[in-house]
Amino acid sequence: DPRIATISSAIRVIPDFPKPGIMFQDITTLLLDPKAFKDTIDLFVERYRDQNISVVAGVEARGFIFGPPIALAIGAKFVPMRKPKKLPGPVISEEYSLEYGTDKIEMHVGAVQAGERALIIDDLIATGGTLSAAIRLLERVEVQVVECACVVELPELKGRERLGDKALFVLVNGS
Ligand code: IMP
Repeated sequence: DPRIATISSAIRVIPDFPKPGIMFQDITTLLLDPKAFKDTIDLFVERYRDQNISVVAGVEARGFIFGPPIALAIGAKFVPMRKPKKLPGPVISEEYSLEYGTDKIEMHVGAVQAGERALIIDDLIATGGTLSAAIRLLERVEVQVVECACVVELPELKGRERLGDKALFVLVNGS
């Protein structure tokens, strides 16, 4: 698909951010290019329309950029999966391990119902810890996770393996 090359070249790579040795994939430059941004959303919408998906779950923070336009286009609700202590109502939370220590994501109780079909969206998969926690959170409340989708995958970090048998769809690879 010719759109992939445009999307890939619109993502800026910033070396040594936020720490030395990290090649940060910066999707804010993709958002500055309306054609590339629209192509990104369209590619996801083409894949997920007509799949009976009623929930698009977006992971804070950049899943909040890509998730809502996809949700609107496919006629699904948008559910934010947030960092701890941000959501005002009762939450369920799921912990995941980082290089040093642990982190958590939270979702409002009652945002989704058992039996719904969900798509999980984030900008990027690195080690897969974040997405694996998002999958557990939805599966705990008996939501069927159809697939996880990201704009960028860092394949060297093998995050895909951490998702077990859950399908992952990505548009471009970073390094
Ligand atoms: P993981 O849990 O190790 O897969 O890390 C993925 C999470 O970290 C996602 O929520 C990303 O937004 C964020 N992240 C990690 N590396 C980058 C990067 O290079 N660019 C943008 N986000 C990143």
